[in-house]
Amino acid sequence: MPEEISRCPHCDKQLVTWVPCDESGWDHDLLLCENNECSYFVHGRAKVCGDYGANFAYRFCYDPKTGREIPIVAWCGGDLSLLKGRCESGGSS
Ligand SMILES: [Zn+2]
Repeated sequence: MPEEISRCPHCDKQLVTWVPCDESGWDHDLLLCENNECSYFVHGRAKVCGDYGANFAYRFCYDPKTGREIPIVAWCGGDLSLLKGRCESGGSS
């Protein structure tokens, strides 16, 4: 059995259960770090924006079934965007 973790190893926040959509190929829940301050997310976003000029990043995600780390691509819209002005439609929250 893989080790169960409930907190993000990068920011120590509680992970949330994330149910992937059917098309993603997963048939079970994953654990996702939704912290926008998470170093994993912040560094990944800075790297992606810097290297590719793309407006997305990766969130830390953990598969409790395999014990594997799975980087989940997260679109950085609205306030999360480091490329403000490029994105036409901001999130409405
Ligand atoms: Zn985190």
